Amino acid sequence: QIQKPKLILDNGLRLDGRRPDELRPMKMEVGVLKNADGSAIVEVGNTKILAAVYGPREMHPRHLALPNRAVLRVRYHMTPFSTDERKNPAPSRREIELSKVIREALEAQILVEQFPRTSIDVFMEVLQADAGTRLASLMAASLAVVDAGIPVRDLIAAVAVGKADGVVVLDLNEPEDMWGEADMPVAMMPSIGQINLLQLNGNMTPEEFRQGMELAMKGINIIYNLEKETLKNKYAELKEE
Ligand code: ADP
Repeated sequence: QIQKPKLILDNGLRLDGRRPDELRPMKMEVGVLKNADGSAIVEVGNTKILAAVYGPREMHPRHLALPNRAVLRVRYHMTPFSTDERKNPAPSRREIELSKVIREALEAQILVEQFPRTSIDVFMEVLQADAGTRLASLMAASLAVVDAGIPVRDLIAAVAVGKADGVVVLDLNEPEDMWGEADMPVAMMPSIGQINLLQLNGNMTPEEFRQGMELAMKGINIIYNLEKETLKNKYAELKEE
């Protein structure tokens, strides 16, 4: 059993050198797979996710189709090499839960009512896990959905906030996720002001919660702009071709 390290150093910085209100470096790219209808890679620090989307397409088996909307089938999966100790590739309870949470977040984004009797299939592979994989996966999936040309209400931008050594921090790293006092992933559609996902693990006072939400919104705005840039660059490339 390893002892909890100090998460906030004497100079006020975090173990990875960030200020409490700083995001990790991020990278995004869409259209990275040839055989999927839509795809994206999202990197947040050392967390790296690949997402692929198929559909809307005719639902098989057909009796699972719905007459008034598309059915979303969503799989969040960690590759065996994504963690420091080999992860068993069989779906764990955690992966089943995260698949459901991510599906519900995507159902609020996609205009599913425009595609009755079809299915939209979303696959996320965690290539490298270093905290925040559910949100990076959700963002990769939402970008892949847009890349597939599926109509959406807005893009989804997401970041976790939490508490480490009593300090409210933005975009938790793995030690903060593991040893911190609170972990709160937040995902939003910023332009329409709707929350897609909000979870809270641990304890925060109402004041810390308010502070955390404010910090999350700040991060979400930066990430939202990066997502829009990513899509714009892709379309500019296509136009040139
Ligand atoms: P999230 O990845 O969304 O933050 P958790 O809070 O459940 O979800 O996980 C935090 C981090 O713990 C993950 O990002 C990953 O780095 C690590 N982790 C999760 N599951 C495993 C596992 N089976 N083996 C090793 N590390 C894991």
